[in-house]
Amino acid sequence: MKKFNPYCCWIFKRNYIKKANSRKKSSTYWCGTATCKFGDVSVQLSIQNREESVLKIRFTGDVCHDILSSKAKNITGSDRSKLIHHAWKSNQEPSKMHRDNLLRIDPDYFSAGVQTGSGLTHGTMKGIKAEAKARHQGDHDLTKSLSQLHDSIAQEDENHAINLGHSWRKFFGYIQMCNMSPTINIVLFNEASLRLYYELSRHDIVYIDATGNLFANEKKYNRLLYYAMVLRNPFALNSPTPIAE
Ligand SMILES: [Zn+2]
Repeated sequence: MKKFNPYCCWIFKRNYIKKANSRKKSSTYWCGTATCKFGDVSVQLSIQNREESVLKIRFTGDVCHDILSSKAKNITGSDRSKLIHHAWKSNQEPSKMHRDNLLRIDPDYFSAGVQTGSGLTHGTMKGIKAEAKARHQGDHDLTKSLSQLHDSIAQEDENHAINLGHSWRKFFGYIQMCNMSPTINIVLFNEASLRLYYELSRHDIVYIDATGNLFANEKKYNRLLYYAMVLRNPFALNSPTPIAE
């Protein structure tokens, strides 16, 4: 359908498949109907005979979109799951996700007023981000959620070490300490960064770096700062290596 009409935003309405034990020999094996969200074109699809598997497509109407009122299909299924995964991994603002997705839409399709894949407004991405949070954050309470995460990462790390036969490993995980009251304190490092510190700090300086740009403004707190203990990278021009954060 896209090949013959790359502009419309299809919604599939009815489809019918012949029952396996149907006695109506001449009836159509499969037929379906799709209409454009703009209400201009409708399509009848049919496969008369399963063995021949020839798809007949019959368009009715002409493309006539009011491009000032864009349309988009609901994002569902694996497309939605992918966006939820991306939202959780990247932690991007919904408006940025929306803009990035708009840029990915085929220009012909976009200029016909169709915004399928990005939603009509950044509100769609807001919903996706909320879903990502609900799905991945173990508990509504951030402290509890972090503590669950702390335990699960440590357990995963320990299992991994056991599988590898690394019985010399002494501590596990990446989140080493969480404390949410009265200020947020999360200490992050793993055994590898500790070993790196042990090796490199003998030859070079260790310093503390802070940034406030990583956090959105949380109304509950004045300003959040993210501190990292870093080591100069032994290879010139490479960015410093965080040891503990
Ligand atoms: Zn259309």
